[in-house]
Amino acid sequence: MKEVTASGDEHSDAYAGQHPETDAMPAHVMRVALSTRGFMSAAEGLVLYAAAKTYGARGTILEVGTYCGKSTVYLGTGAMEVGSPMVTVDHHRGSEEHQPGEEYHDSELVDDDGRIDTLPHARATLTAARLEDHVLLAVGKSTAVAAVWRTPLALLFIDGGHTEDAASADYAAWTPWIAPGGVLAIHDVFPDPRDGGQAPHRIYRRALASGEFTEVETAGSLRLLERTSTR
Ligand code: SAH
Ligand code: MG
Repeated sequence: MKEVTASGDEHSDAYAGQHPETDAMPAHVMRVALSTRGFMSAAEGLVLYAAAKTYGARGTILEVGTYCGKSTVYLGTGAMEVGSPMVTVDHHRGSEEHQPGEEYHDSELVDDDGRIDTLPHARATLTAARLEDHVLLAVGKSTAVAAVWRTPLALLFIDGGHTEDAASADYAAWTPWIAPGGVLAIHDVFPDPRDGGQAPHRIYRRALASGEFTEVETAGSLRLLERTSTR
């Protein structure tokens, strides 16, 4: 299993050469990724970029949890390089922790009606990263999009709602679409509850306990599990 130790500092642009196991992205997109609001270190992002190139070559990539498009830039750039379609899903109204008064609220993401709206930011990120013609934004509740979904996935990245209900609904709705040999990536997996909420950790444990997935890589709070069997 590969392990990349996260540098943690997502605002540092001194990423080049720090992660010999992962390729650097082209400089102009790396700049966009680093300057986009969001919750992903460069070390984690570059692992997603590499995974998008490796697994994306086999099919479609889907992300749950676009926010302002930070992780989308890493996945989408890899997807574009190997000609893989990519869809990113979000209702763009923010998770519980993004709402006014909560820990991760950003007052600059509030629209004229006083609600969180990250969609314009995500679009601007895709434009800046030159991914607008390549990455499809699906705006809606994750399970509602999953209900009309019919396409096997080469890579599924779960980084949406972190409540118990949202994370387990995402797991149930989307993981059946991962093709054999495809990969499940989960963000914010914290084995120690003092480091963060446990819902993503629980779906990670659930994937391992299913016997359908084998862990192949870890970086920061990111886990990559390959589908080795289907029930
Ligand atoms: N991947 C992003 C961070 C995602 S934050 C980055 O790299 O920065 C989690 C996102 O999930 C929020 O934008 C929130 O709006 C979205 N979300 C939460 N619950 C959701 C649901 N049930 N359906 C769709 N999107 C949801
Ligand atoms: Mg996250």
